[in-house]
This record gives sequence, C-alpha cells and structure tokens, in this order.
Amino acid sequence: KDEVNIIQGALELRSKTVQEVMTPIDDCFMVDISSYLDFETIRGIMQTGYTRIPVYDRERSNIVSILFVKDLAFVDPDDCMALRTVCKFYQHPLNFVFNDITLDKLLDEFKTGTFHMAIVHRVNSEGPGDPFYEIIGIITMEDVIEEIIKAEIVDE
Ligand code: ADP
Repeated sequence: KDEVNIIQGALELRSKTVQEVMTPIDDCFMVDISSYLDFETIRGIMQTGYTRIPVYDRERSNIVSILFVKDLAFVDPDDCMALRTVCKFYQHPLNFVFNDITLDKLLDEFKTGTFHMAIVHRVNSEGPGDPFYEIIGIITMEDVIEEIIKAEIVDE
C-alpha cells in the first residue's frame, strides 16, 4: 500500500506546481538585514529550528540574502555583530523559481544544483503599472519529498 502511494505521489509531481506546496511568505521566519546578532536575536533564530533563514531588506517581500544557522558558529553574541556583515562574508547565492513550474522540474533542479531551498516568485501583472517579479514564498527539498511520500516529515 505504501509503495502504491509513493508511486502515485511521484507521478503527481508532474501536475503539482511549486505554488501549491510552498511555504507562503507570510509564514516564513525571516530576519531583517539591519538587525544585530545579539543574544536575543540569535536565540530567536535558534528557537525556530530552521536551517536556512531568508534575510530581507526593509520589506519582507524583498529577500536579499540567506542566512544558514551554521554561519552563526563563529558569531559571539557579545560582539553584537551586524547581520549585514555576516551576509556579506558568506554571500550564499539566492535561487529563485517561478510559482507555476511543476515539482518534477524543481526536483531536477534540486538534484543537479547545489541548493535545497528556493525563493518562489511570480510575475505580477495585475496593477496598472508594468509587470514585476513578486516574491510569494519559499520551497525546500523537504516540501517536494513530502509530496512523494504523502506524509508530513516531522523535524528532529
Ligand atoms: P529545515 O532544514 O530548516 O528544517 P526543511 O528544508 O527541512 O528546513 O523544511 C521543512 C519545512 O519548513 C518546509 O515546509 C519548508 O518550506 C519550511 N521552512 C524552511 N525554512 C523555513 C523558514 N525560514 N521559515 C518558515 N518555514 C521554513
């Protein structure tokens, strides 16, 4: 029975889109690039349990960097280092995917690429102005795998 489920899940990757399984931007835990890595901020990040934290500038829809929790290994809370400095030092690349690509394509990218989290954007052409790219969520390898096995993976 499990096998049938998994095969079905794998087949459905071709019809499900990124937007259907992503974590919407409003549910993302992010940090502001102008914050300082004092004890409180570091504790807040640690408590979430996430490995990768999108970093935004002024607005949450403006993601400019990504912080890996392991980047904090050499950060002393007493130094109150600027997050901006840490982001500049590591410069982890941001990877974007469109909201309407299907999960099999995303899985291919995750398999060949060097990243397991992507920022989801879409073309917003609703208003009277020019169309623009709008960030609407994040998606990770785990989101795709959950669709294959059709079960929630509970983190450690
Ligand atoms: P982690 O390694 O941080 O636990 P995973 O890649 O295992 O992250 O993803 C677990 C789930 O958490 C996925 O649904 C993913 O979309 C979501 N997720 C990952 N990072 C964040 C974050 N910073 N804020 C909110 N949700 C996140």
